[in-house]
Amino acid sequence: MNSSRAILYERFVFKHLGERPTRQLFGSNIHVLGNASRVKINSVEFIKSSDGIKDCPMDGFPEVAFVGRSNVGKSSLVNLLMERKSLALVSKKPGKTQLINHFLVNKRWYLVDLPGYGFASAPKTLCVKWNEFTKDYFLKRKTLVMVVQLIDSSIPVQQIDIDCATWLKQHNIPSTLAFTKCDRKKKKRKTGGKHPVDNVVEFLQQMRLVTTQTYPWILTSCVTGQGRDELMMHIEEFRNYWHS
Ligand code: GDP
Repeated sequence: MNSSRAILYERFVFKHLGERPTRQLFGSNIHVLGNASRVKINSVEFIKSSDGIKDCPMDGFPEVAFVGRSNVGKSSLVNLLMERKSLALVSKKPGKTQLINHFLVNKRWYLVDLPGYGFASAPKTLCVKWNEFTKDYFLKRKTLVMVVQLIDSSIPVQQIDIDCATWLKQHNIPSTLAFTKCDRKKKKRKTGGKHPVDNVVEFLQQMRLVTTQTYPWILTSCVTGQGRDELMMHIEEFRNYWHS
């Protein structure tokens, strides 16, 4: 992906490239147009699982990819965004963990469910395979508009999340950080537990050490619904902009 798209993304997310009035989304640093409204989901269809980009749909619809560590809350967030109770994420089915899964949303764009990274008990070869597989997708998929990287805000900062975010940035791939589980209560002090917001602040501080660019981020919770409408507006606007 060339650097111009990443630069455009930053300008778009923070300044909106024009004179039109914008507003900052609640619980995030992202701006949308003042008249942006709630995105309704009329249809979501599972299209296919692919084991490489050669196999992915070729109809040219723009796509937004979701990625994160296993157990980050990806299925829950996707269901929340899609207003579905249980849109089965194929990536969770045994034997399908290494596939790229395409869902067609409102017959206009693809939500792409990518395999989770950082399996605690996985052999090293599996992690290496994840790297090759998803990196290939990120670098070569022409219709990829943006990536939503999910970060679990209920646990301390994980180096693997920092590494993934840094890698996306270094390769000029437009990406937004969606912090999940922001409703989780502070754990007992003796266990070293922190409030989700403290973990978010720490994550963003650590990101600042590796990049001077500002990162779009948004807080979400599947329990309270926080961030659902905001993240969808952000996705919808950028997808529209890129497509027009
Ligand atoms: P995935 O493996 O990334 O698809 O994660 P899941 O969506 O299956 O969620 C993993 C666990 O985190 C489950 O026990 C969920 O109930 C829980 N979880 C997911 N999202 C949230 C959230 O927003 N708040 C809280 N409190 N728990 C969540």
